[in-house]
Amino acid sequence: MSYSFQFDSIKLPPEAEQLRQEVRAFLREEIEAGTFVPGGGNMHGKYNPEFSRKVGAKGWIGMTWPKEYGGGGRSFLERYVMTEEMLAVDAPVRAHWVVDRQSGPVLLKYGSEKVKRELIPRILRGEVYFCIGLSEPNSGSDLFAASTKATKTDGGWLVNGRKIWTSNAHRSHYMIALLRTSPPTGENRRHGLTQFLIDMSTPGITVRPIVNLAGLHDFNEVVFDDVFVPDDHLIGTVDMAWKQATDELAYERSGPERFLETIGALRGLVGAVGTEPDDRVAQGIGREVAHLKTLRRMSVSVAGMLHAGKSPVVEAAVVKDVGTNWEQALPQKVRLLAPTHGAVAGDNSTDFDQIMRYTTMIAPKLTIQGGTREVLRGIIARGLGLR
Ligand SMILES: Cc1cc2nc3c(=O)[nH]c(=O)nc-3n(C[C@H](O)[C@H](O)[C@H](O)COP(=O)(O)OP(=O)(O)OC[C@H]3O[C@@H](n4cnc5c(N)ncnc54)[C@H](O)[C@@H]3O)c2cc1C
Repeated sequence: MSYSFQFDSIKLPPEAEQLRQEVRAFLREEIEAGTFVPGGGNMHGKYNPEFSRKVGAKGWIGMTWPKEYGGGGRSFLERYVMTEEMLAVDAPVRAHWVVDRQSGPVLLKYGSEKVKRELIPRILRGEVYFCIGLSEPNSGSDLFAASTKATKTDGGWLVNGRKIWTSNAHRSHYMIALLRTSPPTGENRRHGLTQFLIDMSTPGITVRPIVNLAGLHDFNEVVFDDVFVPDDHLIGTVDMAWKQATDELAYERSGPERFLETIGALRGLVGAVGTEPDDRVAQGIGREVAHLKTLRRMSVSVAGMLHAGKSPVVEAAVVKDVGTNWEQALPQKVRLLAPTHGAVAGDNSTDFDQIMRYTTMIAPKLTIQGGTREVLRGIIARGLGLR
């Protein structure tokens, strides 16, 4: 069946703009207090539990979650404004980011009542952090080939196998893992996978660091050796996780983090060239800002669809594909516009040089994490009825 996607224009409601001012005031105070350096990228550490607890105290974790569980009961559009303000200044949000964006909503939708009652309040306070256990050495893009097994035992399940590229596994309290509970069937190769909540302190879990190109330890290999997971940590329906995991990706793929990760380079360029750039630089900056504005409009539109209860999987894939390609190319475009910057290392390097080095080194990962370029284009093509 063919499908035509569309990005309706969304006007942010007054309460979202009011919230923007509150978030800006909070961030200004935190910057003045020296909590983080705006636009500093990962160099200054984006993982900051103390900051996460402050964000939790403000009510900005779980903003859209039901009030019944202590959530904010606010709209996706308000959450959108809060996240874009945080990302625009590179606030250190990484500790609570995954649980706020996707693991919390999965637990609320499919988790056991006991787990929800125990964990959601702690998540909302910014005390509990999650990692995502999807990729394995032989199943990255093809999630449904996962082979790490969960086998039924008395009162729970025993997990054996390996996950890889697991961001922040070494500092997360829980993982939501996609595990094999039965073989795929002839009719449906996606059958046989189940999601589980795994307490990362359980005996039998080994987390091994993988240092990335930028020399940072963000992701890991996680090995499970007879790890016991109690029955009430089952998420959703046994063997039927393929639908749950696909929904989760719409949250993961469409937010402003899919085009703002190298924005420090553009902001640094604007600062470095001052108020009277020559025509060539002014045009270059104008072109990138125009791209940014369009991406933002598309991304806000997806937030509007999530707000309306839709599942905009194709639109989210479009935002991620166009957004990550743009942010990936940005450091190189900035370098060409400001050719004397970005090459200095060591003590003489300026903030702009450091931002250029950092954004250049992280650029390759942007079109891999959360779904590769080719895979996203496959999803879009299928959505359009082209394959
Ligand atoms: C910074 C970073 C953080 C990450 N964090 C996490 C995390 O927290 N948790 C987690 O589970 N995973 C994480 N990942 C893993 C990421 O999701 C996978 O790397 C990604 O899904 C690709 O899988 P792969 O590396 O096995 O490559 P492969 O799937 O082997 O792909 C190799 C190449 O083949 C192409 N390809 C594959 N299938 C197709 C197809 N059907 N059609 C056309 N081309 C195809 C791909 O586009 C790619 O170019 C992270 C990755 C990065 C880079």
